[in-house]
Amino acid sequence: MALLQISGVASGYGEMQILWDIALAVEHGQTVLLLGANSAGKTTLLRTIIGLLPCWQGEILFEGAPLQGLKPAARIRRGIAFMSELGVFPDLTIDENIRLGGYFLGGAEVRRRAERLFGLFPDLAKRRGEPAASLSGGQRKMLGIAKALVSEPKLLLMDEPSSGLAPVFVKQVIETLQTAITGGTALLIAEQNVAFLALADRGFLIEGGHVRLSGTRAELAKNDAVKAAYFGLD
Ligand code: ATP
Repeated sequence: MALLQISGVASGYGEMQILWDIALAVEHGQTVLLLGANSAGKTTLLRTIIGLLPCWQGEILFEGAPLQGLKPAARIRRGIAFMSELGVFPDLTIDENIRLGGYFLGGAEVRRRAERLFGLFPDLAKRRGEPAASLSGGQRKMLGIAKALVSEPKLLLMDEPSSGLAPVFVKQVIETLQTAITGGTALLIAEQNVAFLALADRGFLIEGGHVRLSGTRAELAKNDAVKAAYFGLD
C-alpha cells in the first residue's frame, strides 16, 4: 500500500478550477518531485493534500485511509508536515520556530528533538535565540526544514524549497535534505528547479493543472519534453 495515493483529484479556488484528474502516489520513504512551471498548480495540489483547500473530486488516501473531511491539524497528527514557501515565522526566534514545528508534542519530547536537529544544523544552534528574520535566505530554508522535521513526519510536503535562493544555496538545500532526511520520511517536493531531480526516486510533470507525464528520475531526465521545458538537463 502506498503511503499517499491520489486519484482523480480536482481542486481550485472559489469557482475557479485549477487541478484536473490528478493521480499520483508516494511510497514509504520515497522522494517524489512535482515538477512544473509557474502557475502549473503545484502549490494548489500541496494545499489540497494538507487540507488548506477542499478536494472537489477524487480521493486522497494516506496509509490507505481517506484524508477528505479532516482538518489540516488532524492530517498533521496522522504524520504529514507542510513546509510552505516562506517556511518560517520571521518574528519568532530560531528556537521558537523549531519548537513550533512540534507544538502538539510534550515539552520534553520537543526539547529532545530540537536538540537532535540543532546537532544537524550547527549554524542555527549558535543563533538559536535570534529572530528568524536575522537569517539569510538560505539559512531560513534550513530552519524551515528543521521546523518541518521536528514532528518526524511520515510525509513532508515541501513547496518550492529553492524559491528566492541563489544556485549555491539551492545546492546546500539539496545536500541538507540528503543528510537530514532519515528514519523513512517520504518527501513530496513541488519545484520548478530541475536540480531537485537529483533527490527524487520519481517525478510528475504538472502543466496547466494536469499531470502531463511521470516516471523515474532517469526517465524524466532523458525525456525530451522535460529537457525542452527545463534548461540545464543534458
Ligand atoms: P508557483 O511557482 O507560481 O507557485 P504553482 O505551480 O505552485 O506555481 P499555484 O500556486 O498552484 O501554481 O497556482 C495555480 C493557479 O492558481 C495559478 O493560475 C494561480 O494564479 C491560481 N491561484 C493561486 N492561488 C490562488 C488564490 N488564492 N486565489 C485564486 N487563484 C489562485
